[in-house]
Formats: sequence, structure tokens, C-alpha cells
Amino acid sequence: MPTRRQALKTLAVATLATSAFAKFTPAIAADAPAATAPTGPYKLPPLPYAYDALEPSIDAETMHLHHDKHHAAYVKKLNEALAKEPSFTPPANVDDLVAHLDQVPESIRTAVRNQGGGHANHSLFWLTLQPNERQSATSYSPSLLKAIGDDLGGLDKLKATMTEEGGKVFGSGWVWLVLDGGKHLTVMTTANQDSPLTEGHYPLFGIDVWEHAYYLKYHNVRADYLAAIWNVINWDFVSQRYAAAMKA
Ligand code: MN
Repeated sequence: MPTRRQALKTLAVATLATSAFAKFTPAIAADAPAATAPTGPYKLPPLPYAYDALEPSIDAETMHLHHDKHHAAYVKKLNEALAKEPSFTPPANVDDLVAHLDQVPESIRTAVRNQGGGHANHSLFWLTLQPNERQSATSYSPSLLKAIGDDLGGLDKLKATMTEEGGKVFGSGWVWLVLDGGKHLTVMTTANQDSPLTEGHYPLFGIDVWEHAYYLKYHNVRADYLAAIWNVINWDFVSQRYAAAMKA
């Protein structure tokens, strides 16, 4: 019987490497134009929709700053950190990098944890959101809905739990819906840009609760942002990601 750690590693690597994942994320294909001129191995993926697509839940100015400045900075600083250790060859997928921080040279490990985590977390974040007008077409897969019911008490309870846990994050961080090593759904939070992958959990989606994610529109009222973001969660994508992870 594989150990929990082996199982998690297999889950993470297999899921992220599947063609199924690539199929659902055409906007970040390898040949997609980068929004910045990278100096290292990682690139800023373009937003998979217009900057104003998430209005009014998330405003266009926030999306510009969040993607073009904050996410871009994580990518730039990640590449700069990796350039200091040229003997270390990072994996092609940043998720594999943050899933195995122990393999990163110690001299750059903290930088990779922060900047690599920022790149991984935001790359997933954009994909798990979708324009308001698509919400009416959203379909939760029966298997994901069943798991949410079995493991977390149902969709309303999931939203309430994530909203509450996200509200309690002190300072900067994320609240996540993850698959744990036993392939059960769990809500967890991480500080700063730490990734659930580093702890062996597979993120289905996360809500960024850094102030930069909401301050322009919602000011200091994180609760209003946490209430509004449910209008733009891409449940089709989350369902597909769940199905791919359960198959892996
Ligand atoms: Mn952010």
C-alpha cells in the first residue's frame, strides 16, 4: 500500500500533467503569448477573459493591477531567484516546483516558496473564475456535488465555511477547497503565498484574501468581497478539475 505521501505526490503530479488539465486551460497553453518578457523559465499566463469580465463582483481596475502587476511581479521575482542557482533545473510546471520545495536549493527556497507560490496560486485563481454572464450556464458535476455533501455538509455549508475561514485569515493568505491525501474534500487556509501543494493537498480552487484582491472596490470590508466572489466561481472548471484528480 502506498504511503500517504507517495499517494499525494502521485496525485499531484499525475493530475497536473494530464492532458485533461491542459484541455480545460487552453488560455495557458505553452505557446500562449506572455504578458511580460520573462528572463527565466516561468511566464505570466494571460487572463482567460477580459479584465472587466468579472464586473461587478470584481472590478476591472483590480484585475489589471492584480494580474498585470502583482502576478507579474511574482513571476519576475521567481525567475530572478532561480537565476541565482543555475545548477537547479526547475520543473516545467510551477505546481511541481511548489509541491517539492524540499528539492529547491536552500539559498533560494524562501524566495521560491513566496514567489513560486504566488505564481502557482494566481495561475489557478484566474482559471477558477468566470464572467458573470456565464453563471446561468454553470453546472456542478453530480460527483462533485455529492462529495461536497458527504464531506462538507453541502454547497451552502461549503460557501459558509470558506467565507468564515477566509474572513479569519489574519493578514495575507488564501482559503482553499482542497482534496486531501484520502481524496476527501477539505477547506483549509494558507498564509501569504503558501500553496496547499506544499502540504500535500490538491487545490480545487482558492480565494485570494490579500487586500490587493479586493481593496479598491471593497476597501476594508473583506466580507463583502467574500460574499460577491461566489457570483464568479467557475464551477464547471472546478468540477472538471475534481474529476481529473479523482481519476488520477
Ligand atoms: Mn493576489
